[in-house]
Order: sequence, then structure tokens, then C-alpha cells
Amino acid sequence: MSAERRRPVSWQAAHAPAHVLLIDDDVAIHSLVTAMLKAIDVQVSGAHDAAEGIERALALQPDLILLDQELPDATGVDMLARLRALPALAATPVIVVTASERREVLTACFAGGASDYLRKPFFGAELRARVQSVIDRQRMVAELGRAAHVDSLTGLPNRALLNLRLQAAIDRSSERTDYGFAVMFIDFDRFKIINDSLGHEAGDLLLREIAHRLRENLRANDTIARESAGPTVARLGGDEFVIVLDDVPDVETAAQVAERLLPALESVYQLGEHCVRTSASIGIVHSGAGYDSADDMLRDADIAMYEAKARGRNCYAVFTPFMREAVRNRLRLENALREAIGTTQIYLVYQPIMSLDARRVESVEVLARWRHPELGLISPVEFIPIAEETRLIVPLADDILRRACLQYLDWHARCPEAAPRYLSINLSRVQLADPSMADRVIAILDELDMPRGSIQLEVTESQLMQHHDMAVALLTRLKQHGIRLAMDDFGTGYSSLSCLQEFPFDVLKVDRALTENVSRGRGYSALLHAVMTLADNLGLDVVAEGIETMEQLVLLQALECPYGQGYLLARPMEADVLEAWCHASSPMTAEVP
Ligand code: C2E
Ligand code: MG
Ligand code: MG
Repeated sequence: MSAERRRPVSWQAAHAPAHVLLIDDDVAIHSLVTAMLKAIDVQVSGAHDAAEGIERALALQPDLILLDQELPDATGVDMLARLRALPALAATPVIVVTASERREVLTACFAGGASDYLRKPFFGAELRARVQSVIDRQRMVAELGRAAHVDSLTGLPNRALLNLRLQAAIDRSSERTDYGFAVMFIDFDRFKIINDSLGHEAGDLLLREIAHRLRENLRANDTIARESAGPTVARLGGDEFVIVLDDVPDVETAAQVAERLLPALESVYQLGEHCVRTSASIGIVHSGAGYDSADDMLRDADIAMYEAKARGRNCYAVFTPFMREAVRNRLRLENALREAIGTTQIYLVYQPIMSLDARRVESVEVLARWRHPELGLISPVEFIPIAEETRLIVPLADDILRRACLQYLDWHARCPEAAPRYLSINLSRVQLADPSMADRVIAILDELDMPRGSIQLEVTESQLMQHHDMAVALLTRLKQHGIRLAMDDFGTGYSSLSCLQEFPFDVLKVDRALTENVSRGRGYSALLHAVMTLADNLGLDVVAEGIETMEQLVLLQALECPYGQGYLLARPMEADVLEAWCHASSPMTAEVP
């Protein structure tokens, strides 16, 4: 096989013809080389002495220079030195063409930065093989360099290139007092959920579309950059993107850019057959705070991004040093939670759900508690969201379900007639977006020999709205396996009525806010009455949550609300306290006041 046929076709195919500049005073050589190189994909230009050679090389930026060692006004070795001294030509490959037999000449050429040499007289095949090999090598190096700096999914600069650009901007800002720039750290809300529920292909599509929107939006509206190199949009990995806004005088200007980006990133994304929504949380830092390392700047922008998330997402936050402490605390809590799962630090309390007429404990709602050895009791309102964001909710929920079932089985083994019929367990929004959730729940129930019909899973309207398609599939599957379903906090979301028909619920838990309103006048009572009639028509049991006063209880009883839950009836209690409480109005029944 000839050297020419051995060359990797892919390198050649992917590029425009390489440009070769021949610098030689022998006119005959020019036509000879041009003819010989016709067989490969190169374009040949010529120069006849050193001065013209340099001039043309600067103008043409060739991919390769064929350099005669014996020019009228310079030797090849001198020429190499001159070429290498020019930044624009310092890395251009050079093949020295020489009639010299002397080793010292060749050694000097290589020492001066020549890529190869060719001895006159030469054959066409030899010339082509050497030219092609140098071009291929050059392209491969360029390609590897590009790959090391580009995110292959989106084509955006990656972390390595971002760091270089950021460091260059930091250096510039420390040299020039009139120069400032800003960094935006962007994270996409619910990306993980979309990725997990619709699959990685959809996730990849979403990331590409996000990259496109970021690029287009900054390009279309880039009014902020005066003498800047333009903004850099980079992807750090996952759904984390960073924008460096070059030549931005103050943080307010950066905030205006964020305000412009947020709506553009929020509108619907069409991913194949799926339509999804996401929104961005943006953290902003400005060079005016005096950074000297890219890492520090990124860290603070990241912290501000977390603050934006905590403020409710789809917004931006500008970094302040105070945020650092808050993030440290949050990280501490995350780590502590990781350690606490499966230990006695996390324990369960049970709040009775009672029939309002027969005064019986119908079921108990399982509520998680976390007693941290130093921080004391931490509310689920605080730690469940942390567990959700870190996905610790998955092992935590499994653990809660397992423990609650064991407790239920123990009650039923010891005192079946007094034990609650149902165990009501809250599902998290993350579980509703996890395709394996139904199977895991069923596996745990089967493993413990827990009657499936005694479990009631509670989900809220907003959870159903967020993960509509996945929720329909999961809840239907759970229902097919005999598990009961309750809509929790009804009346606080938006989807209310349509949800009730669409999902196979057994129970409707009316939110505390509606219960509270019952005593505020006829209109509110009528509303609750309407809800109960609707539930009745759909065959759902109604539980009024958050009953706190006698007045509320009496009105609910008058409305014939069948079940209730609230501090007036019973507070959430640990299992043994609940047992004692029930025995006081033995057997495991309780008086409604
Ligand atoms: P939720 O599912 O709506 O639970 C009812 C909450 O209302 C409980 O708060 C309960 O203590 C409280 N509550 C009950 N009666 C009254 C009352 O009369 N007045 C007032 N003001 N509050 C009452 P808790 O235990 O703090 O739980 C808060 C939320 O945390 C729960 O709301 C639920 O969404 C979540 N949560 C608690 N435990 C778990 C769990 O094990 N898993 C999941 N995924 N979420 C949980
Ligand atoms: Mg609940
Ligand atoms: Mg509730």
C-alpha cells in the first residue's frame, strides 16, 4: 500500500483543501511542485525569496510552508527563526527542501522548528506523502485541542476553556481599572426530573436547545459589550451553564441581561413528541468585588444561583458575602441528613384521621421527624425539600414506608380490632417523577407481607401538575395493585376539578385553608359543601384537614363531612403515645371532643 493511500481519509474529508506556500527562488520547482501536488487536496501558492515569503505567509496563513534551504536573501535556518518569531506563524508547520547532504544543516533545521525535510531532487509520491503526513498531523492536533475545550453535546466552550477565558478577564480587570466583567451561573429547574422521566435523549435535546437559546439571545441583544470580545457561553456539565459577560461596567447591567434571558429560557421546549417547561435560576457576580481566581468567582456565582433557587426559581440573585454562610449551613444540613437516614434521628409520628360521626380512628397519617443531635428538631417542611433536591428522598421514602408498615403490622398483630384501617403516607414530587417508584413501593409491601389495600398514598395537586404524564402512569399502576390514593391539600393548587376525574383517587383531603374558612361565613360553607357533593359523586371519601377549633368541627359535622384531621382531634404522636392515647378511650378508638 502506498503512503498516500494509507493516510486517514476522515481528516481530509472533513476539511477544506489545505493551503501550501512554497518559498523557493527556482521557478521550475514551483510548476513542478504544483503539478505533483495536484493529486492531493491542496492549494499551492508561491514566493521567491525570504522577504516575499514572510509577507505572503502573513497574508495567507498557510497550513504548511515548503521552504527552500538556499534562498537568495536568507538560509532556510534563518527563515525558520524569523517565522517562529512571528506569533501568527510560530506554529505553522514547515518542511525544509534542500539539496544539501550535510547533517549539520538538517539538525539546525529541526532545532529551528522544522516539521520535516525533503531532499532535492524528489519524486512526486515522496513529496505528497510528506506533505499529507504533516497536514494530517497538524489537523489532528488542532482537532484534539478543540475537543479538549469544547463540550461535545452543545458545541459550547467547556469548563477548561471557560477557566482560561475567565482567568484572562480577571487578569485584564486587575490591569485596567476601567474594565469590568460579570459571571452568570445558570442552573435549570427540574432538569433532572425531565431527564429521569423522559430519558437521556430528551435531556440531551433540552440541553442543546438551552445552549441555542442562550447563544441566540446573547447574540441578538448584545448591546452591553462596547469593546468586548463578546460574551462567552460555556457548559460546565449537567444542566449547569456559565456566561461571562465581557466589558460590563457594573452588576446592574448584568442583572438586565439576566432579566432578558429568564423569559427566553422559560418558554416551552419541544423535545420530539414531548413538550416540557423548565426555567432558570441565575447567580451573578461582578469582577468589581476584586477576584483573583476563576474558581473563586465561579464558586460565588454558584452560591448566588442557589440563593436564586431558594427564592423560588425562575429568577436571579446577585452574590453577597452573607450568602456564603447560608450555603455552608445548607451543605452541613445536607450531609447531616445523608447520615441521619436509616438511624433513629429520623423517626415517625402518626396523626389520627377520624370519622367525625362514629368517633373512630379511621387511619393515621405518617409524618417524618428529624431530631438532629445538635440542631434539635427539624421540621419536614425544612428537610423534605433538601431530601428532594439531593434525591436523598428516594432512600428516605423507602425507609419511612418500611418502618410505618412494620408499625402497622405490629399494631394489627397485637390489637387488630383497635388498629387503624389505613396507613396514609405522603409521596414526594421527586417520587412522582421516578419511573421505578411504583415497583419499589409494591416490592416493599410484598416483602413485608403488608396488605396492599391498607396503604393510602397522598399526593398534592401541584405535584400532579408538574409531572402529569408520569403521575398518571404511576398512580394508575399503584391503583391496579390495590393501593389507595388520596389527593392531599386539595384547594391549594389550580388543577383541582380536572385532576379529580383524571386520577384514580379514593380520598380527597381538603386543605387546612378551606377548613379554616368554614367558620368565616355562609359562602365558604357553601364552597365546602359543593366540594363534598362533587367528591361524593365521584365516590371519594372526604377528609377535612387542620381542624383546630370546636366551631370548625361543629360546622363540618353539620355539613356531614365524614372524616377529619387536626390538632383539635389529635396531634401527630409517636407510636407508643398514640397507643396510650387510644387506650384512654379503649380500644384504639378516640372520642371526638
Ligand atoms: P401534609 O401532608 O399536608 O401533612 C399535614 C401537616 O399538617 C403536618 O405537618 C401536620 O402536623 C399538620 N397539621 C395537622 N393538623 C394540623 C392543624 O390542626 N393545624 C395545623 N396548623 N397543622 C396541622 P408536618 O408534619 O409539619 O408536615 C408538613 C408537610 O411535610 C406535610 O404536609 C407533608 O407534605 C410533608 N411531610 C411530612 N412527612 C413527610 C414524609 O414522610 N414524606 C413526605 N414526602 N412528605 C412529608
Ligand atoms: Mg399529607
Ligand atoms: Mg395535607
